[in-house]
Amino acid sequence: MTDAPSYLFYQSRNPRPFLDRGEGIYLFDEAGKRYIDGSSGAMVSNIGHSNPRVLAKIKAQMDKATFGYRLHFRTHPSEDLAAKTVAMTPEGLDRVFFVSGGSEAVESALKLARQYALTQGQGSRSKVISRFPSYHGCTLGALDLTGYDPLRAPFDPMMKGMPSIPAPATYLDRDNLSEEARGLKYAEMLRDKIIEEGPETVLAFLMEPVGGASTGALVAPDSYYGRIREICDEFSVLLIYDEVMTGAGRTGKFLAAEHWGITPDIVALSKGFGAGYAPLGAIVAGARLVEPVLDAGGFLHGFTYAGNPLACSAGLAVLEEMEDQGLIENAAKMGEVLMARLRGLMARYPFIGDVRGKGLLTAFEFVSDRETMEPLPPSLEAHARLVELAYERGLIIYSRRTRGGTAGDHFLLAPPLIITEAQIDEMMTLLCAALDAFAA
Ligand code: PMP
Repeated sequence: MTDAPSYLFYQSRNPRPFLDRGEGIYLFDEAGKRYIDGSSGAMVSNIGHSNPRVLAKIKAQMDKATFGYRLHFRTHPSEDLAAKTVAMTPEGLDRVFFVSGGSEAVESALKLARQYALTQGQGSRSKVISRFPSYHGCTLGALDLTGYDPLRAPFDPMMKGMPSIPAPATYLDRDNLSEEARGLKYAEMLRDKIIEEGPETVLAFLMEPVGGASTGALVAPDSYYGRIREICDEFSVLLIYDEVMTGAGRTGKFLAAEHWGITPDIVALSKGFGAGYAPLGAIVAGARLVEPVLDAGGFLHGFTYAGNPLACSAGLAVLEEMEDQGLIENAAKMGEVLMARLRGLMARYPFIGDVRGKGLLTAFEFVSDRETMEPLPPSLEAHARLVELAYERGLIIYSRRTRGGTAGDHFLLAPPLIITEAQIDEMMTLLCAALDAFAA
């Protein structure tokens, strides 16, 4: 079946078995082989697969109405999901705009920021500073802000080329600074960049609070976050958190921003927000920003499927399930367990050079030398090989060959937030078998 011809050009050169069904943290292919979904797909399936309560809610909505255009009707699923989202996010974030995915969320955040600046008579502000490495999406606007050259390069003349600063890659730093001083050092790079660009031209700063696909669960020192907020305030630059991957409980709080007590001006959500039950995303912002834009007649263009009742009923059921089952608390607790297990691997596998993360967004990285943190040679194709070795053994992990500004193999482990300690052990047994095969 795997060899059946495919007309889909995104996967024809990477044939995988056909997916049959999902159940909790497990996926099954058509041959009946079971896989632990160790990365929740691409950090999506936060409440696990085939959750009966969510399925029942979606089916109930299907029986009533699958679509009603948002300019023609209000719908309870969209109103209720917006209310629930506001209730779960920090105070000050109380307006919601629905989209169908992460790239759309990032683009919408940028457009809201721009329209807000216009209402403030600040039309000169159009630059958005982002970080490298980073990942913000595949549409041209979001890609313009993505700090990952191999993805951007083919399209470069089509994009503006926005300014960027390095994301803190503190595990690569060879200075003698304290963690706190190092966090501040990286934050000051934003201040320097705003001044260099001209503060009156800078609209916003866009960051993933914990690096995702591009950096592998990279967390900055605590001091970084507060200082970034201060710098944005100093220059009236809007702070946009891309929580497409980190949001919806993944890191052990509903928003990762809550770990540092930060209220961003705009937050982009997707992935775990629909948790694989619907293509769904949102931007959440304060009325302070949104109301002047609406008063000025702005933000009228939305996406056709935005806020459709089917997707919103799925999203609502996902958040209810998350709350009722205490899944965010479980993510914090199981995140600690998983991190401890991963750190334990460092004694057994000298090529694991770093283990990091927040909640159930965790990563480990391969190096050829722990002292210098030199990556493994690209010719080893380590990231692809380990993924295949794990896949053969029934464990799905997610990898990329990037790290703080240079190439290196990192692997994300981000199972559904419903995972138990026994299931973490099951996952680690498979991972060790794959690592042993890699080392052999
Ligand atoms: N931002 C971040 C932080 C992401 O991780 C992703 C997806 N990997 C996106 C944006 C884009 O989301 P989507 O693929 O749903 O467009």
